[in-house]
Amino acid sequence: METCVFCKIIAGEIPSAKVYEDEEIVVFKDIAPIAKIHLLAVPKEHYKTLAELTDARAGVLARALSTIGRLAPSLGLEGGYRLVVNQGEAAGQTVPHLHIHILGGEPLAWG
Ligand code: AMP
Ligand code: ZN
Repeated sequence: METCVFCKIIAGEIPSAKVYEDEEIVVFKDIAPIAKIHLLAVPKEHYKTLAELTDARAGVLARALSTIGRLAPSLGLEGGYRLVVNQGEAAGQTVPHLHIHILGGEPLAWG
């Protein structure tokens, strides 16, 4: 989708600080971090929310989760981390391309 900022990053049309990429997903640094380490894991296919999940998309997301788990120690997240997936505007979703926030690098408050 040509107006989507994450599609532009995936297409290489705007820069990002990528820490991982394969055929299906990309992981890059959030431009406005809310934790010491704040990454975004993004499936390359454009869709907005889990309401649009198909078996194929679910497979990609499962591989994204296992990739995050595998990479975490090498990304400075060995002490633990939080995953957040905002779904829709009421949840604070500002980019309409499904993404997993990866937060860590410091103790995180809860509640
Ligand atoms: P959300 O509010 O869940 O849709 O998250 C969107 C995230 O994308 C926010 O944390 C933004 O800081 C981040 N973001 C927006 N534009 C960029 C960009 N060009 N590069 C990296 N992160 C971005
Ligand atoms: Zn997109």
